[in-house]
Amino acid sequence: MRGGIVRHCNSVFKAEDIWYLLDKDNLTNRRLYIANCPVCGKKIAMYSYCNAVTNDFFEQYFYSGGAVRIKEKLKKDIVSTMLRFKTKQKMPSGFKFGLNKEIKKNGKIVAIEQYACDFWGNSILVKKIKNE
Ligand SMILES: [Zn+2]
Repeated sequence: MRGGIVRHCNSVFKAEDIWYLLDKDNLTNRRLYIANCPVCGKKIAMYSYCNAVTNDFFEQYFYSGGAVRIKEKLKKDIVSTMLRFKTKQKMPSGFKFGLNKEIKKNGKIVAIEQYACDFWGNSILVKKIKNE
């Protein structure tokens, strides 16, 4: 899971907002990461997507005016944004996948925790199975 990391001026920092975009033209997992570089103060937009045909992952950076233009262009494809999601919902929604976490004690699995996760990085414990 990618955590919204943006790079500029030899530093790595968190995106201030992430736009989750509709799949389009064989492109999936489309996201726009929005940030301001803490070093030079530039507006940055990083557009990432996966080509569903070749399975290649792309990251494209836009700066200043370019960042404003790509935001304008992709605005209509927004499904949700991180900031909107944070203010409106506390629980994972539209469960995307289940995750099992093994709890080990002295190398032996003593329990399995089942989590429901969504693509915003939220997860919630659904069930705990004890392995006696
Ligand atoms: Zn910078």
